Amino acid sequence: MSCIFCRIGAGEIPSTKVHEDELCFAIRDIRPQAPVHVLVVPKAHIASLWELEDEALAGRLVAVAAQLARAEKLEKGWRLIANTREHAGQEVLHLHLHVLGGKRLGRMLPAAESG
Ligand code: AMP
Ligand code: ZN
Repeated sequence: MSCIFCRIGAGEIPSTKVHEDELCFAIRDIRPQAPVHVLVVPKAHIASLWELEDEALAGRLVAVAAQLARAEKLEKGWRLIANTREHAGQEVLHLHLHVLGGKRLGRMLPAAESG
């Protein structure tokens, strides 16, 4: 099994788990880009949102993200990001939702660049 998030889910690679249920788990990002940076990851290997067809799983992932935001006391606001495939710069090809918060996050995207 070479997928890093499958290996984390199986307990083969250490992580800081902040949630686990029968469908998904959540870990702290190893290179946090905000004071709170958590990844919500399905246990099943699904490459990205492009491949996600299971609506119950989709609902669970978003519900867990919101639950974690509340647990982290992000009442001032937070952001949910799912980098999907090449143009979004997806690095780990196992679906994950980024929960980011704990500071002002700025504009959603930098000013448009050509290309
Ligand atoms: P993405 O660019 O959306 O695919 O994001 C992948 C994220 O996974 C990045 O924010 C990485 O810092 C994070 N990451 C990679 N390896 C690990 C790991 N072993 N534990 C926790 N987070 C990781
Ligand atoms: Zn995987």
